[in-house]
Amino acid sequence: MWPVLTVLAVAAALGTHLAWRRRHERELGVARAELERCRRAQEAAAAEALARQEALFDSMIEGVLVLDETGRVQLANRACAQMFDAPDGSAAHWRGRALLEAVRVHEIARVAERAVREGRVADEELRLPGEPERWLQVNAAALRGAEAQPRGVILVFHDLTRLKQLERTRQEFVANVSHELRTPLSHIKGYIETLLDGAKDNPEVATRFLQTIARNAERLKLLIEDLLTISELESGRVALQFQSVPLRALVQKVLEEFQARAAGRRVTLLNAVPDLAARGDAVRLEQVFSNLVDNAIKYGRLEGRVTVSARALDNGEVEVAVADDGPGLPADALERVFERFYRVDKARSREQGGTGLGLSIVKHIVQAHGGRVWARSEPGRGATFYFTLPAADAIEGRSA
Ligand code: ADP
Repeated sequence: MWPVLTVLAVAAALGTHLAWRRRHERELGVARAELERCRRAQEAAAAEALARQEALFDSMIEGVLVLDETGRVQLANRACAQMFDAPDGSAAHWRGRALLEAVRVHEIARVAERAVREGRVADEELRLPGEPERWLQVNAAALRGAEAQPRGVILVFHDLTRLKQLERTRQEFVANVSHELRTPLSHIKGYIETLLDGAKDNPEVATRFLQTIARNAERLKLLIEDLLTISELESGRVALQFQSVPLRALVQKVLEEFQARAAGRRVTLLNAVPDLAARGDAVRLEQVFSNLVDNAIKYGRLEGRVTVSARALDNGEVEVAVADDGPGLPADALERVFERFYRVDKARSREQGGTGLGLSIVKHIVQAHGGRVWARSEPGRGATFYFTLPAADAIEGRSA
């Protein structure tokens, strides 16, 4: 009897144990699956955060480079790769390399070392080796762990090239303006002093000196007027009064105004503009024509011919040309003549009362109309200045 009971008891215990084990395994399986789901979700969230962080880094204009505590690249964004001309514009293959291997600029390594040594943000402006000239501002900060142990360095680079160029242009402009203003002013001063020293007692000499003073004062006035026009145009504050401008009539008006001046050099002025209308600001366009016709008379040949012509282009623009048959321009000056104060022959320009700003004003006005301006010349065979404007009917047609 006892053995039977024992066997039954053992069997019952075994059954209970097996049932418990199955339930336990089922529960364990559920828990494992839950754990796995959590792990996957965590991994996905981490990958998403990393992708978001990389996208954020890559969308930054500043270059960012992170070094680990051994000085090797841990992370670098796209802007950084481009600043240092990484092959194919990506910094992926920099990971794990020494800083100098990646950026190849010793000064940057120095700034990073200084940040670690001094324990504060180090910043420096530096010119990158090579051409074209490029400038960077480097900010470096040491990274530290919870117990202040070194964790690496973060470097941030700002491209200063454009700022430096603008600054240089501004300085050159101020130097040019000062020089241009000083020349007539010192003439005026010199002649006044000579008059006061006794020349005023000789009426003939006094008249000649006063004429020179008047000429230089006029020059100063023109220069200041042109400077004000340039600054107005560059500030973008000029509101153009757009209207339909009949070009032939406008050119006729300008040529009539220059008739006396042209006669002085026995230059023939020709209006070959057909019946075309541009959309623009009549006052500003008159300034464009005046500057170009004035130049063509001034720099063209004695007894020469100045022709203004125009044609409609297929793209809804009008192309205007002001041509002379004078000595023309050397090829390397064709673009530069539109720069402020650039002159091919300084003495000639001054002698003709030029300010060196006329073509720069032309360029600004044409561009404010959405047009382009350029020059062509075969030395010895004259110069032609072209510009485009939106055609009045094309615009009207489009908006109708
Ligand atoms: P400027 O006041 O000296 O005339 P501009 O800006 O009008 O200044 O012209 C710049 C320079 O371009 C002139 O000094 C001159 O050397 C050159 N230039 C302009 N127009 C002509 C032209 N039609 N033929 C030859 N050279 C020209």
